[in-house]
Amino acid sequence: MSTDTACCPQCAAPLFSSNQYVVWCMECEWNIEPATSSTPPRHSIYRNLRQRLSQRRFERLLHQPISKPRLRLTTLLAYAIALGVHMLTLALLAGSVYVLLFSELHRIWRLIGGGAGLAAAWILRPRLQRRPAAAQQRAALPATFALVDHIAAQLGIASVDGIVIGPEFAASLSQDWRRRSYLTLGLPLWIILTPAEKVALIGHELGHKINNDPARRFWVHAAIESLVQWDQLLRPEQIFAVQGRGIMALLLALFYIPVNLGMLLLAQIARFVAQRLVQLIYLESQQAEYYADHIAAQAAGTTACQSLLRKTCCESVVSLATQQLIVAGKQRPSTGIISAIRQSMAAMPAHETERLWRVNLRTLRRSAATHPPTDYRIQLQQAHAAQAGCIDTPALDIAAADSEIEQLEPAIQHQMIDNLKHALYGR
Ligand SMILES: [Zn+2]
Ligand SMILES: [Zn+2]
Repeated sequence: MSTDTACCPQCAAPLFSSNQYVVWCMECEWNIEPATSSTPPRHSIYRNLRQRLSQRRFERLLHQPISKPRLRLTTLLAYAIALGVHMLTLALLAGSVYVLLFSELHRIWRLIGGGAGLAAAWILRPRLQRRPAAAQQRAALPATFALVDHIAAQLGIASVDGIVIGPEFAASLSQDWRRRSYLTLGLPLWIILTPAEKVALIGHELGHKINNDPARRFWVHAAIESLVQWDQLLRPEQIFAVQGRGIMALLLALFYIPVNLGMLLLAQIARFVAQRLVQLIYLESQQAEYYADHIAAQAAGTTACQSLLRKTCCESVVSLATQQLIVAGKQRPSTGIISAIRQSMAAMPAHETERLWRVNLRTLRRSAATHPPTDYRIQLQQAHAAQAGCIDTPALDIAAADSEIEQLEPAIQHQMIDNLKHALYGR
């Protein structure tokens, strides 16, 4: 498939030639990401800070056992700030009710003031987490539930209350306001995994349950959402804007300058606090990922956990297979995505797998996302004693779960095509 025909323009190392895959240099990484837009410099200070924090955390964990994330001072501070934000919303609600019902003002002013306050409190309220609309009950996916229940029991964790089979190349765990938990398994990721990697994936997501991560994050995320709404409500479009003609319009615009400046200041404060909150919970999210990996390795063994992490870098293969499926045939084929993805994965040469892996690392480092860079996660597992995995994978009936999940192909495929079209054409 690949022959050495050309040399790297940067370091003269031999290059692979390929008409299907990106030609890049393994030595100096020339052309590793052909179309990368440079990231805006505005957030670079925070990004650099987060990258440093993330690296320091990683280096510290290399030399100590991976433990459950402890309640840190920064997390407590984040909770305190979040509580303050929610109290502010509550105070706004109480104040508005008071103005509306009991104040001495004229009725018109009571209605306007109280009504506006109530409307703002409604916009700022913490949104209750609901049950995902696509969550399946036990009766719909009995074998998949049996698999998850078994892994949960072996790990000593309560199982989930619902399973969602989704179109994303990912898996996740969420919780609704009644503290019921839902496991989302992305079909495109699921179908390229080996049985042991599937156990590792479920183990990882269940690992987030031990930490109670979804609930822990809920109130802080709700506070961040509220602050973003405050920012949008308060930020004036213009500081000085003359509406209409004549001296009165001009005077009115002048009068509004200090009002607008005050609103701008408040909006800036809301934005600043929201950014600090994100910063405060950043390290805890990273530690939670490492811990969930640790649980995954406990379930399926270190090797399966590492190969799972490597496979999570192959998302572009899935979107390429989806694109090819649309281009090749009918406008909306209803099946075929599963075999298309598996074929693309099987056909992928080693230099492309390596490129996707390195691009993934670069992207995660660049974005300083809440997930630690994948190589940190793998290296951390290598630094600790390898685990064999407590689950006897061959004894599990994973094939039964697979056929249940693969039966959902037509519905998931439609969603995948829609999502891809939306991403490509914005419709
Ligand atoms: Zn080179
Ligand atoms: Zn995770």
